[in-house]
Amino acid sequence: MPIESYNPHTGRVLRRFKSFSWAKTERILGQVHREVATWPATSFAHRAGIMRRAASLLRERQDELARLMALEMGKPVTDGRAEVLKCAACCEYYATHAEGFLADEVVKTDASRSFISYQPLGVVLAVMPWNFPLWQVVRFAAPALMAGNVGLLKHASNVPQCALALEKIFHDAGLPATCFRTLLIGSDLVEKLLTDDRVRAVTLTGSEGAGASVAAIAGAQIKKTVLELGGSDAFIVLADANVALAAKTAAQSRMLNSGQSCIAAKRFIVEKPVIKEFINQLKTHLLAMRPGDPLDDATQYGPMARPDLADELTQQVEDSVAAGAKVELFGGQAKPGTALFRPVILSNIKPGQRAYAEELFGPVALVLEAKNAADAVRLANDSRFGLGAGVWTSDPKKGEAMARQIESGAVFVNGLVKSMPELPFGGVKKSGYGRELSYLGIREFVNQKSIWIG
Ligand code: NAP
Repeated sequence: MPIESYNPHTGRVLRRFKSFSWAKTERILGQVHREVATWPATSFAHRAGIMRRAASLLRERQDELARLMALEMGKPVTDGRAEVLKCAACCEYYATHAEGFLADEVVKTDASRSFISYQPLGVVLAVMPWNFPLWQVVRFAAPALMAGNVGLLKHASNVPQCALALEKIFHDAGLPATCFRTLLIGSDLVEKLLTDDRVRAVTLTGSEGAGASVAAIAGAQIKKTVLELGGSDAFIVLADANVALAAKTAAQSRMLNSGQSCIAAKRFIVEKPVIKEFINQLKTHLLAMRPGDPLDDATQYGPMARPDLADELTQQVEDSVAAGAKVELFGGQAKPGTALFRPVILSNIKPGQRAYAEELFGPVALVLEAKNAADAVRLANDSRFGLGAGVWTSDPKKGEAMARQIESGAVFVNGLVKSMPELPFGGVKKSGYGRELSYLGIREFVNQKSIWIG
């Protein structure tokens, strides 16, 4: 993939970047690695000061950053501004809590004193996707840097300016320049980096294929990995639910980031008595959403990030319809090779269709009929993915019981599935492993060392 900013709304290439050679990449790795001797020795208070300044700079540059995201991957500026604020809050969260999360933990044993000590690993490589170009990076970088690690960022090839803008924020906040560097490289250099002993661990957010490839290389090198991969989140609506609120939230979730969110609700599993009502209301909400120029404040959803992604989604829809899926709402692309994709609703989703088995990473809502609550859980779990899920019911106890049975990294009862600094985020099955955010996230890239004193 060329490293370039391509505006999916206008179809114009805005800027091309020359990718770094291996020699340049290796030189930067050497500089970043040298920080391993000094950065972990700084105090938590010092690191927290930098993280708080980064939060202030994010807020100051909110409009500029939202504009960059709109230009590079089509995110409406209103959503972009919210993403920037979320990043600032995450920096502040770890500035406040990192020291407590990583404090020594005394454990009673046969020793006179024994405890667990959390120590940084060193250079961590982050391979990141374009869909939340700032948030995905910050939720890795804030805890990793606060823990005393140093970071290398290989961002998606279509968001180089976002990657550089974030690097600049950390540097302007006072982080030594070589504690966090953006590498403008293609995925071909990831293997070389991972086979270098100076890189100690890798985190990847992205597709299943990229995750499998990176994990295989890291595994051969005995290196720690965290994988945040795809999802096909279930959104269960029971007959006793507030269907109006569920349908409104369903539309909001499915259209988040023009449908390109890993934790967007993708499979709407609805009990038979309310399925017609749910589809009608979902349709009304989706039709009311306004597409347009991502730079316009009134735009509610923009184009998909690249035309080829919209083409692929169209193919998944066409193949599923040919295999028996029923079209309840027809939007899609105006013509092949264009990035705007209007919402689609498909029902009668059955095994054997691509829509049943695959992740549809765009504005397509899949509706499945459930006989009862147990059948809804069965359908939710009949997926290779397990990232997030939602349950809608007027009986919170029943919702909680179902939440415990669903195979996913998170379940929200009567609410929109979202990530937040306080709760761990991650998946099971093909959605990956390891956790980001909360105290669990900051403990991924540390040596959890036992110290026993006789
Ligand atoms: P992608 O194609 O896998 O790209 C993600 C990153 O991996 C990019 O930086 C990409 O670089 C790199 N990459 C791709 N193939 C690689 C390989 N073989 N070796 C090393 N690096 C490789 O994913 P995407 O299309 O950007 O993102 C969409 C996917 O990400 C969806 O499946 C979505 O559900 C998932 N996602 C998951 C989460 C989560 O938290 N679980 C969050 C967001 C997105 P290039 O750009 O240079 O190819």
